[in-house]
Amino acid sequence: MTFLILLLTEPIKPVTMSTQENTIAPAAIEPGQNGKPLHLHCYVAGRKINTENKLSVNSPYDRRLIGTVTLAGIKETNEAVEAALKGGKTLNRYERYSVLDKTRQLLIKRKEEIASLISAESGLAIREARYETGRAHDVLMFAAMECLKDDGQVFSCDISPSGKSRKIITLREPLKLAVAITPFNHPLNQVVHKIAPAIASGTPVILKPSEKTPLTAIRLVEFLYEAGLPPYMLSVLLGPTSEVAEQLVKDNRIDLVSFTGSVAVGKHIASTAGYKKVILELGGNDPLIILEDASMDLAVTLAAEGSFRNSGQRCTAVKRILVQESIREVFTKRFVEKAKEYTCGDPADPATVVGTVIDEPAAIYLEEVTKKAVAQGATILLGGRRKGALLEPTVITDVPRNAQMIVEESFGPLAPILGFKDIDDAIALSNATAFGLSSGVVTNNMEHAIRFVKELKVGTVNINEVPGYRVENSPFGGIKDSGLGIKEGVIEAIKCFSFIKTFSIPW
Ligand code: NAP
Repeated sequence: MTFLILLLTEPIKPVTMSTQENTIAPAAIEPGQNGKPLHLHCYVAGRKINTENKLSVNSPYDRRLIGTVTLAGIKETNEAVEAALKGGKTLNRYERYSVLDKTRQLLIKRKEEIASLISAESGLAIREARYETGRAHDVLMFAAMECLKDDGQVFSCDISPSGKSRKIITLREPLKLAVAITPFNHPLNQVVHKIAPAIASGTPVILKPSEKTPLTAIRLVEFLYEAGLPPYMLSVLLGPTSEVAEQLVKDNRIDLVSFTGSVAVGKHIASTAGYKKVILELGGNDPLIILEDASMDLAVTLAAEGSFRNSGQRCTAVKRILVQESIREVFTKRFVEKAKEYTCGDPADPATVVGTVIDEPAAIYLEEVTKKAVAQGATILLGGRRKGALLEPTVITDVPRNAQMIVEESFGPLAPILGFKDIDDAIALSNATAFGLSSGVVTNNMEHAIRFVKELKVGTVNINEVPGYRVENSPFGGIKDSGLGIKEGVIEAIKCFSFIKTFSIPW
């Protein structure tokens, strides 16, 4: 049966804002004024922290100093919890909408500055950083819209023989306090995906961003204060893990820990958090499965976009390209040609397609897993060379199924190709890792597509799309080692950052 897929065939595209809103200042090449490093502070409920302890943030590309952050310790961690619990002005729905919408407008106004900052501190290519600001814009827009909706339900009680003339009504109430812990790979979008739903729910939140990319996160916090968020609603803390992150995770005054990051840290949090809600968005090892009936052009495009966008540092990046044996040779040839378009270099250069990975140790790890695969019989067809944190997009074929880069998560621009015999084999191979985040299947056969939707053990199956495809308010999250099956995405996250109270009245 021919599968007519009209809507799902587009590769990831940046979100375009309206022409009027998208008017941007000339490119700001450097993060601080006149190219100087930025000196930012952690904030306890709107108050800048002043301590002797400072974190330096250097460019992964050329090691220049991008900025510093004044760090918190155990005292400030405790103060942030107390300030949030003490509370202050409660925002009504319109006021929460207004704060998020003003933040969205600030982001539009200062889009180029924020994109430059993302690129400078993370090494992501400037075009990726601009794309990320578009995603964050959408998150703020959807979260603001949700403030204006009420998802309350009414249950009539006279609906069974033992019923009564009453009605039960649901209300959504904020939590006392939540903690958001975020990774480096999308310095802005990972943060806004937790903070915006918390604010939409009316829940105060303490943010602990990655120490590798703290500057963008702190700038976002400043935008939110500027947009009128009551200071007690948000603190941002960085500092020694044992004094900040681990204290917050263990603190029994906190209702929720929302964590995105690695499996190891996520499982550690799960074992130490105690009696509180925990949301875990962990690693991925997503396959792109290409069947022999697929459109070859589409398969090649999706494989390249999925493997190399964001320097391959997306939890939902294509980490394994599984191709049916009958088309493997043709696909591989075409894919190598396509991959040559993904040139890597200076992240600040608009012509650069792929920037660095997060730091040199990460690039060395990727280089080593590649060497190990080669020692097991794999062949590098393109790329593979490294300079500092810059690793060329790398295409590798004949990779054994038990190679480290196939079994574990390799967070970078590696594109290993594996052959499979038939659909049973593809499903078994796909499900064979500990991860279960997302997947992409390229096929023109509806029956095959539906089989994959039913049988892949993952949180998402995208037909004729990359695994990473989503809109910012659709449910998102994985199973197995990728997460506990509790979804994020703006609407689901708002549910996590709140709880439902019911009341009943005679009727
Ligand atoms: P990470 O090393 O786990 O760090 C994530 C955050 O956890 C950072 O803020 C880190 O702080 C903090 N942290 C470290 N040790 C901690 C502890 N003992 N207790 C509490 N917090 C602690 O992850 P990463 O290297 O930044 O990010 C890459 C990983 O994130 C990949 O595995 C990727 O797949 C995953 N990820 C998953 C999703 C998803 O939605 N499923 C999305 C994006 C990324 P410091 O920076 O101060 O160490």
